[in-house]
Amino acid sequence: MKLLMMGAREDERVFAEKWAKENKIDLEITNDFLSPDTLHLVEGKDGIALQQTMGLPKEMYQQLADLGIKQIATRSAGYDMYDLEAATEAGLIVTNVPEYSPNAIAEFAVTSALATVRQLNKIQANMAKQDFRWAKDMISREIRSMTVGIIGTGRIGRITAQILKGFGAEIIAYDLYQNDDAKEFLTYKDSVEDVVKEADLISIHMPATKDNHHLFNDDLFSLMKDGSFLVNTARGMIVDTAALLRALDSGKLAGAALDTYENEMPYVTKDFTGKEIEDATFKELVNREDVIFTPHIAFYTDTAVENLVAGGLNAVYDVVTTNDSSNRVN
Ligand code: NAD
Repeated sequence: MKLLMMGAREDERVFAEKWAKENKIDLEITNDFLSPDTLHLVEGKDGIALQQTMGLPKEMYQQLADLGIKQIATRSAGYDMYDLEAATEAGLIVTNVPEYSPNAIAEFAVTSALATVRQLNKIQANMAKQDFRWAKDMISREIRSMTVGIIGTGRIGRITAQILKGFGAEIIAYDLYQNDDAKEFLTYKDSVEDVVKEADLISIHMPATKDNHHLFNDDLFSLMKDGSFLVNTARGMIVDTAALLRALDSGKLAGAALDTYENEMPYVTKDFTGKEIEDATFKELVNREDVIFTPHIAFYTDTAVENLVAGGLNAVYDVVTTNDSSNRVN
């Protein structure tokens, strides 16, 4: 069996080589992404593992099938970059890696929560100016004195809640489907509105759907306590960024930590050193002292990357050898 791993980052190679050695598989690794220009690399391979933000031209699904390929395995949880209908029509099985390390994202959400509450941006900006005073506006609250609202109590939300409970916070939450085990460490409310009215810090942990697009808008921000904090490590489109900036300006929000932004695609994972950021809203987010913006990096731990690589390659192996995979999404 000969497999091809495309779009491989340097940090993935070591885990891919380990997987190939342990499973005695002939694995070719390239940092090229799959495109019409690189399709020839697929020739002679039995399966492919991809990791790319760009989609594929529609005709490529059939071209892959014509080369004898049965599947597309993405080394990510998200698979919205692929046209599932076109893949199915061409007889290709698309797989993802649904769970690779919820702790990675939960730990980052907690890190972001602490950083925004303790105003680390402001402190670091003063350090850069060599101003070592304790300004009055740097005084912060303690997490144990706060009520934390968790929106979405799935894998990541539950771990985030447990860690913050460990700091002594009271945890309230909303989810479309309540989790009985979570009731040991949090109290469910009947709506998002009920949570935001009571919480001092809100952390979002649900997927983006057509129902929650801009759920965090002017109306929802207006219900929040003055001086509350928002952490979003989920998806940018859940938050109306213009409304978020208004909430920060009015003092409704004291700070926000965002690992994701609704129009992040042109910027995230790219080097803009010395280049102009044309999106004025994004530029404001990365420059404000009351916003900690990070580039969709919450997942990025050694454990998560190893699990993504192994999960993606295992799915290729499963489809090539059994014509199916438990991680099939089409
Ligand atoms: P999960 O599926 O385990 O949990 C999601 C929870 O959200 C579920 O309990 C679901 O019932 C709930 N939910 C869905 N729609 C809702 C709504 N409208 N209102 C309230 N609750 C709702 O997912 P997870 O593994 O915990 O991941 C959560 C999110 O984290 C993902 O969807 C993704 O957007 C994000 N994520 C971010 C990164 C990153 O690097 N920043 C990495 C992985 C995942």
